[in-house]
Amino acid sequence: MPILLAIAGLLLLALVFGPQLWIRHVLKKHGADRPDLAGTGAELARHLLDEANLPSVMVERSDTGDHYDPEAQAVRLSQAHYEGRSVAAVAVAAHEVSHAVQHARGEPAFARRLNLVRQLGWVEKLASGVLLLSPLVFAVMKSPALLALQILAGVMLLGIRVVVHVATLPVEFDASFGKALPVLLRGRYLGAGDMAAAQSVLKAAAYTYVAAALATLLDVVRWFRMLRF
Ligand SMILES: [Zn+2]
Repeated sequence: MPILLAIAGLLLLALVFGPQLWIRHVLKKHGADRPDLAGTGAELARHLLDEANLPSVMVERSDTGDHYDPEAQAVRLSQAHYEGRSVAAVAVAAHEVSHAVQHARGEPAFARRLNLVRQLGWVEKLASGVLLLSPLVFAVMKSPALLALQILAGVMLLGIRVVVHVATLPVEFDASFGKALPVLLRGRYLGAGDMAAAQSVLKAAAYTYVAAALATLLDVVRWFRMLRF
């Protein structure tokens, strides 16, 4: 029995943290400096935004990972992708620009996703509150059953984030393969030999939010961060 439990525990850890490790691995693998490429991620993002007639969308450096911010109308790239000249930088820049295009075109799937994600804010805070209060409640009530119930309720609430990000994966796949990949092919921003690597990066970029939501399920440090108002 203990062996079965250990195997189940390892499988759970692999399921929860595996996708994020896989994404980091893909981005690192294809993040090597490539002086032969025409520009950095930031330069490509600026160029693609101008080509898409979106000169007012800013390209900014980010400390919180690559993303498109629809409120600020900004494509934000991590330092490695902002300054870097790599297949990863090029593919990630094209992916984030595609979100700006989805937004500018008023694509209904993007708008639905934005609405859903906005509503996740209070779910996260509630989940963090339930989880972080559980040791305190246990100290007072001394009930292991109540503690287990609280942890289960908190993790299930966080599970809503996973469900939302899985349900909105089509928006991510449209950004990667409906928009970014054809743009990279048409503009010949990468050579034919780099397209397989670019596709891996685009796939990783599409799964970013699902992977992050999964990892949050067991990431105690992040529970604390989510409570910040
Ligand atoms: Zn995306």
